Amino acid sequence: MRKPFVVANWKMHKSVDEALDFIRSLQGRLPDADLVECGVAANFLALYPMLQEVKGQPLEIISQNAYAEYEGAYTGEVSPKALADAGINYALLGHIERRKLFNETDDLVNRKVIATLQAGMTPIICTDETMIQKEFSGSVHYVFEQLINVLRGVSFDQVKNIIISYEPSWAVGVGQHANPNLAEEGCRLIRQTIADSYSYEVADKIRILYGGSVNPENIKQIMNKPDIDGVLIGRASLDTDNFLSMINTV
Ligand code: PGA
Repeated sequence: MRKPFVVANWKMHKSVDEALDFIRSLQGRLPDADLVECGVAANFLALYPMLQEVKGQPLEIISQNAYAEYEGAYTGEVSPKALADAGINYALLGHIERRKLFNETDDLVNRKVIATLQAGMTPIICTDETMIQKEFSGSVHYVFEQLINVLRGVSFDQVKNIIISYEPSWAVGVGQHANPNLAEEGCRLIRQTIADSYSYEVADKIRILYGGSVNPENIKQIMNKPDIDGVLIGRASLDTDNFLSMINTV
């Protein structure tokens, strides 16, 4: 029922020319959009030429960020309004690298979520987890405080249109083996958190992606998990053949 979504997160990789070459090399090779949704999150400079180049291919061109106000006097930032006007439908928000390297807080990410929704775009909200080891039993449980904070003020109607990406810090950009069972556990608990905060019906509809060291070898095992509806792929998405082989696996 929930359509799989495969998203390449190129981070700061690829110049405009390299991005366009990548798009050209996908021509006619992507699966039908009814079966699987595919997207590439590229740097701001490349987004518009990529949109021109994509020419009706079933590929979403995705922003890796958006500012926390709809528009205004914020030198050096890119507004959700400008992105939406250009034809961008999705924005990644609160990626762990933004949080760690650029000090993005829950409050800032929350404002970005609200501004992006105001522009009519779909935020792909990245969330990590806080793992707490219980003092006596030693068992581990997760606290999704971050998710609750970034969804503050998001209405029942709006939440149906967001996507969440579970990105545990132990797995992003480290090239380690992603653990499909831990990935599923995190995504399942995110769905539970949405059910508790909104409703089971909404939680059942919302797409939850997993991100962190996904590659052609492990993607099948990850996508076989019931609560994982898609993947956000960094390093392994930079090569066209790798990207296509992962899309064709889901
Ligand atoms: P990775 O990055 O696949 O290189 O671990 C994932 C991400 O940034 O979402």
